[in-house]
Amino acid sequence: MSALIQIGKPKAALSVGGAAGLSAHEKAAVAVTVIGAAIFLASFAAPGRLSGWPPLLAMMVLFGGGASSYFWFAYRGTPPGIKNNALATSGLTARGAAGWLLGVVFTSFYVLLYWHAEPLEGGIRLLDPLALALSHKPANQWFLYGFLYTLAVLVMGFRMMLRYRHNRYQLIRTTSVMFFQLGFAFLLPNLLKALNEPEFYFTYFWPLKPEVLLPWSIDGGWYTSTRFGMSFIYIAAGMTFLATPVMTWLYGKRWYCSFVCGCGGLAETLGDPWRQLSDNSETAWKIERWMIHSVLALITLLTAFLWVNAAGGNKILGADGSLLFSRTYGFFIGAMFSGVIGVGFYPLMGSRVWCRFGCPMAAYLGLLQRFFSRFRITTNGGQCISCGNCSTYCEMGIDVRAYAQRGENIVRASCVGCGVCAAVCPRGVLKLENGKVGDRFAGADRPVRAFLEALGLRPPS
Ligand code: SF4
Ligand code: SF4
Repeated sequence: MSALIQIGKPKAALSVGGAAGLSAHEKAAVAVTVIGAAIFLASFAAPGRLSGWPPLLAMMVLFGGGASSYFWFAYRGTPPGIKNNALATSGLTARGAAGWLLGVVFTSFYVLLYWHAEPLEGGIRLLDPLALALSHKPANQWFLYGFLYTLAVLVMGFRMMLRYRHNRYQLIRTTSVMFFQLGFAFLLPNLLKALNEPEFYFTYFWPLKPEVLLPWSIDGGWYTSTRFGMSFIYIAAGMTFLATPVMTWLYGKRWYCSFVCGCGGLAETLGDPWRQLSDNSETAWKIERWMIHSVLALITLLTAFLWVNAAGGNKILGADGSLLFSRTYGFFIGAMFSGVIGVGFYPLMGSRVWCRFGCPMAAYLGLLQRFFSRFRITTNGGQCISCGNCSTYCEMGIDVRAYAQRGENIVRASCVGCGVCAAVCPRGVLKLENGKVGDRFAGADRPVRAFLEALGLRPPS
């Protein structure tokens, strides 16, 4: 595994590099973070004992502020530029004992969250004041999840901005995912709850959140607003069938995967220390294509089948059978894959396991990007020194170097346009660009034909 040239001894991977050990400021920030974390953990140990705003504010300020300060002290005074020191030698980021332990912690949290939330009761009660202020309802395990998710995106997003501060694209992109997570995935759904409206997430729509367009949720009024009627459902349908093709045609799938989506937001912030663990072998690429397109086919067929069933008066499955059917999908794909494996396996398989192998939205966006988009990464092959940084830090496991060596455009369906390959390239070989659809690859001027050929429905021209 290659790394940029480093000077001095490496420090821990979540730090920056440079002199070994922590400075006094960094030590103080770590201590403050630990106190904040201790308050939070204490709340789990004694449910209800820590209540009201004072302990909650203390936890938020000490933990969030301490961690952010740590990153500030660690990065200030260092020259701008990518720092990947010690990533390949630290146990935390190179599948060592610390990485495995963290993987177990992440997966255990998801298991508790989805199936045995009782041990989380104390932490949930600690958040009651915030939940009551935002949604006028006490916290539950999903509020706890949303809170932790948002905190992780904000704190690790701050780290991401310090780390990539030399790169304007990364600064804008990170600001965007922090904004959408805080505003659209945390504050807005809770404010809607306060208004007795459905807890609607404007940034998730079919096929990533299939239930917004399933018959039982529409018939059952799950997303029907007292004030705005069926507007939420129309918005979701418009995002899937109108905004997604248009935006992907204009900018590639990055507009969603790297700027808006919460799963992508977490991968790009919390998951950044593990992006280099993504497998970039041909075998992984093959498995990825089969898996992700199978999930898209499954949810498309399931949605169509449920609508046919509903149109026929639920005669095939019965109303309960239809619900059970979609809940089974939700269990295996929504809970097991996107949560337990998707995030739990960050420290073992990299930050985009779900986006790469399971997300039906990524598959849909990917097909549009591959054949019907203006987006491409151009490569100036003559400048490439084959260092391999781009391939190493591509979170989607794309062997970017192989394209760069051939001077070939990268138009892969899986590329989320994170731009990190370009940011870590020491020679400025790679550029994320939008241009004419027809000059991206041989045959791109006839995208429908290229699409049918890729599906094997037409012989290659
Ligand atoms: S090819 Fe580059 S922009 Fe695309 S996912 Fe990989 S690192 Fe990100
Ligand atoms: S494109 Fe840049 S980062 Fe990738 S191998 Fe070539 S010089 Fe290295």
